[in-house]
Amino acid sequence: MLTEPIIYRIDAKDRICGCNDAWISFAQDNEGEESLPEQVVGRLLWEVVTDPTLQELYQRMVAKARTGQPVQFRYRCDAPNERRIFHMTLRGEPGGVVEFRSELKSYEERPSVEWLKPHAATGKELVRLCSWCARVFVEGLGWVSIERAIERHGSLQGQASPKLTHGMCEACRDEMLQLLANPAAKDLNQLPA
Ligand SMILES: [Zn+2]
Repeated sequence: MLTEPIIYRIDAKDRICGCNDAWISFAQDNEGEESLPEQVVGRLLWEVVTDPTLQELYQRMVAKARTGQPVQFRYRCDAPNERRIFHMTLRGEPGGVVEFRSELKSYEERPSVEWLKPHAATGKELVRLCSWCARVFVEGLGWVSIERAIERHGSLQGQASPKLTHGMCEACRDEMLQLLANPAAKDLNQLPA
């Protein structure tokens, strides 16, 4: 269970310029070695966040934070054996720096989900995972829970695990655009849990 907030910062040119120890532990536990600081610090955020929909949204959020208006939202970021809700705050700092701070708000244990284990991918197939609600896109079903997707996938193609890529579903995108368009929007309860 995480107790420390996970923090990283970007500089005025959108380069990742630092992260805290909690971020390092989180990367080690969840993403594998490609997310360790020596691989990430100094790189453009846009080389790490590569999905076009996510990039567009992050760019809007960063711009808003730099005007002095913090951006806050909830998102799901699960571990294989836990459903987890985080609360993110983007806050502008002097010199165009933006701090990204994530805090774990709640979690719930579940049977371990194979697709979320680091290095689980055994197939070449890519499956999009929504970075906000943790649903995945399945052809013919739309955005569904990862458990449902695995059930469907297993019945279609045996046991090969696809590689998950981070993206964003239309419902989450619409909610975030609404939130960003409304400077007074503070009610995190409107966001998908
Ligand atoms: Zn979503």
